[in-house]
Amino acid sequence: MAVRAFDSGTLQANLRGELIQPGDPGYDAARKVYNGMIDKRPALIARCADVADVIMAVNFGRENGLLVSIRGGGHNAGGLGICDGGLVIDLSRIHYTHVDPQAGTVRVGGGCTWADVDHATHAFGLAVPCGFISTTGVGGLTLGGGMGHLTRQCGLTIDNLLSADVVLADGSYVTANAQQHADLFWAVRGGGGNFGVVTSFEFKAHPIHTVYSGPMFWELDKAPAVMSWYREFIAQAPENITGFFAFLVVPPAPPFPEYLHKKNMCGIVWCYTGPLKQAEATFNPTRRNLPPALDLVGPLPHPALQTMFDPLYPPGLQWYWKADFVNELSDEAIRLHIKHGSQLPTMHSTMHLYPINGAAHRVGKHETAWSYRDATWAEVIVGVDPDPANKRRIIEWARSYWNDLHPYSAGGAYVNFMMDEGEARVKASYRDNYERLAAIKRTYDPKNFFRVNQNIQPA
Ligand SMILES: Cc1cc2nc3c(=O)[nH]c(=O)nc-3n(C[C@H](O)[C@H](O)[C@H](O)COP(=O)(O)OP(=O)(O)OC[C@H]3O[C@@H](n4cnc5c(N)ncnc54)[C@H](O)[C@@H]3O)c2cc1C
Repeated sequence: MAVRAFDSGTLQANLRGELIQPGDPGYDAARKVYNGMIDKRPALIARCADVADVIMAVNFGRENGLLVSIRGGGHNAGGLGICDGGLVIDLSRIHYTHVDPQAGTVRVGGGCTWADVDHATHAFGLAVPCGFISTTGVGGLTLGGGMGHLTRQCGLTIDNLLSADVVLADGSYVTANAQQHADLFWAVRGGGGNFGVVTSFEFKAHPIHTVYSGPMFWELDKAPAVMSWYREFIAQAPENITGFFAFLVVPPAPPFPEYLHKKNMCGIVWCYTGPLKQAEATFNPTRRNLPPALDLVGPLPHPALQTMFDPLYPPGLQWYWKADFVNELSDEAIRLHIKHGSQLPTMHSTMHLYPINGAAHRVGKHETAWSYRDATWAEVIVGVDPDPANKRRIIEWARSYWNDLHPYSAGGAYVNFMMDEGEARVKASYRDNYERLAAIKRTYDPKNFFRVNQNIQPA
């Protein structure tokens, strides 16, 4: 697509939102994304205020041959919400929520973060399954699949998506759900931002208010016992229990006791949604058999759990991501995990194993675009640090960890945990759903207009 000289005046004059360009006072703030490693300079940032603005921006981008990216919460690992030299369709101003407590549903603007949704639904004693950090965008997380504390009980975020309003590459506007544009609805449940700009999502919400949750930490010499126990436990645990396993460095701040500060440990972050009066009885056997060095598990409002890690991971840190899906944790895989997990290069670096069995397994692998319904965990290895001088260290650690563990993985990875790893890796993530995705891409975006993403080439 040839880029022509363009006149941004018509777009500027007609947008209800703002058009931000190089040299404007807000330009540097507007082009920043969550990952401090990403430094891209778009030609135009259209901060859209409504659907009409989005349609106008899509038409302007297409008519002027511009590279276009879609920005939701700006959290994407590889910075796929922005682009160099092109037009960013920034949805952050489209952040309304509307809860229907009778129907148990919530309608959410395409630029919301999960903090917006948790805030709105919690007032009605409801929750939508989402991720582990509340500042993440609803858009990117949902379209890639969405996993978090409620996955084992309520499924992936896409399993709770009822409908999406989408602006397509030709500027037309459609609703995709089980009845209308069912092929598009299938594709957006896992296929990322490949098919259009989603201006509104409608989700099923669940009656979840207070959960019994929080972290348990163990000393590293307990890691072999904890990991071996965990792999058996989570495979058959009641679905109202989720616990993700982590190697971590204890942050040097309350509520963590000083004697554990900066210690490399292993941990499980639990979330139990069953009756609170049964919670102690549910967790006491674990406490007895594997006494943790730190136990902060207790009753918490759901939004408090969702924001627990936000202060630890503010925007602007350097992040390097590697990921895989995992079916089984062999003894040798555990040994390798402990080898790398006990050498975290910086305080923020970590490895998480997110369980994706339970309710997420009851959806067939061809029912949505999200293929790995048979995997037990999504593994993510992240080298993280505030200081760009440590970039090499965190990258080398994450790569070497991943290289050792990849042979024990299921092959592909969760697209939302990947940086730019090329077409083969995208195909590995969708497996035999890729061909159908490519055919649907041909129908809705034959020229690959939306290509700043984990790209699916039109068939
Ligand atoms: C600290 C952190 C924690 C995370 N934890 C989890 C987790 O617990 N569970 C989980 O599943 N994922 C998690 N993720 C990964 C997250 O899902 C992805 O980074 C996701 O891309 C973020 O979405 P966003 O809207 O914030 O991103 P953006 O960077 O704004 O957008 C990313 C891509 O999503 C697409 N997109 C975004 N919004 C729209 C829209 N409205 N319409 C069409 N396309 C759109 C675009 O293609 C864009 O390229 C986490 C990420 C971070 C940084």
